[in-house]
Amino acid sequence: MSRSSHLGQSFDAETVAAQLFDDIAAFSPDTAGISRPAFSKTETKTLKYLEDYARGQGLSVQYDAGQNAVFSLPDDADASKYMLVGSHVDSVPNGGNFDGLAGVIAGLLCLARARHAGIRFAKPVKVIAMRAEESAWFGPCYIASKALLGKLDEDELQSVHKGDGRSLSSHMSDIGINMNQVHQHRPLIDPDSIESYIELHIEQGPLLVEKDMPAAVVSGIRGNIRHKRIRCVGEAGHSGAVPRAYRKDPVLAMADLLTRLDESWLTILQKGEDLVLTAGMVETDRERHALTRIPDLVDFSLDLRSQSAEALNDVRSLLMQEIRSVERERGVTFQLDKELHTAPALCNKQMVEGLSASMAHVRQEPFTMPSGGGHDAAVFANAGIPSAMVFVRNRNGSHNPDEAMEIPDLIAGTDIIFNYLTEVVQ
Ligand SMILES: [Zn+2]
Repeated sequence: MSRSSHLGQSFDAETVAAQLFDDIAAFSPDTAGISRPAFSKTETKTLKYLEDYARGQGLSVQYDAGQNAVFSLPDDADASKYMLVGSHVDSVPNGGNFDGLAGVIAGLLCLARARHAGIRFAKPVKVIAMRAEESAWFGPCYIASKALLGKLDEDELQSVHKGDGRSLSSHMSDIGINMNQVHQHRPLIDPDSIESYIELHIEQGPLLVEKDMPAAVVSGIRGNIRHKRIRCVGEAGHSGAVPRAYRKDPVLAMADLLTRLDESWLTILQKGEDLVLTAGMVETDRERHALTRIPDLVDFSLDLRSQSAEALNDVRSLLMQEIRSVERERGVTFQLDKELHTAPALCNKQMVEGLSASMAHVRQEPFTMPSGGGHDAAVFANAGIPSAMVFVRNRNGSHNPDEAMEIPDLIAGTDIIFNYLTEVVQ
């Protein structure tokens, strides 16, 4: 899709994309990186800016009942069934410019490229720029896509903004969303009109950088089982005075448990199953802990993720089994808080195959990988809409000012989607 590509020669996608990112970054700066809060004026301004660009390209622009901007070729504006391409424009506080926005700009580039080349897609295409995906502002994630599909629950609607303390419901009402429908869990759009959903997103891990590949097709979005706090309780003692056989050391018990889980993780991977496991927070009691004291307790978090619901269930059973065994052997007890659970979302198999075929058509080596982070695509997929994703290489992870996606890589990812929409879909 750069100057050298065979279609749309008058359209320089790299220059256009760079300009769009720069202009939007310029009006969403923060002390570090950028901030585009969910349902904020900056978010609305971003949609308006994209609207102006799209109109300048002769594209149609509409706002849906969730106040998201929807773009299309003029001929597709009233299509009753369409392929939806998009992502979100909000960001976390002090975030990077690419998480979310890259997917919206990729969609717009597909439309602009088709417009310049005077070609139609195989089926009508609409591009959506959604609001409010990030959980950083209110707590719940995927707010716009859940609202569109009637999936926002009452607890989520009553969650409050981290800045002004007002409810999500009132923020949504402020920008003109009919909240009666949302509270009644009635979809704001007809889900049957969406034939499929495709989202391009920056990769939030290091795989594509390490593999030296610009883009990949996503096989599925990992679900998770989470415990914010597991407490292991043992017995305090003097670090010099208590012999090993008499100790009930909760830190060693936790380490033992995590080592057992780590060993099983390896076995699970060797069987070809998908799993990642993290204990990101570990803490002994700050008031009482000391260099010379066997602690009486340790708290730690556990985040288990997999593309497979079955693998998650297996790991849950394994966790309980190992906990009982460590308790017996080390004289400690584990207390688990309430489990938080999100189901995995598989990408549609045919779409994954089609996008992989597109990768080959645009002379990229087909490659699929799971998504570790959650995305709006999971909401569409779990609502029964065939969904798929394309990842673009990005350094330094996401949700921080150092996100580093290169524009040529975005174009490589966009090429895959453009080829899919024009040549692969029937
Ligand atoms: Zn995102």
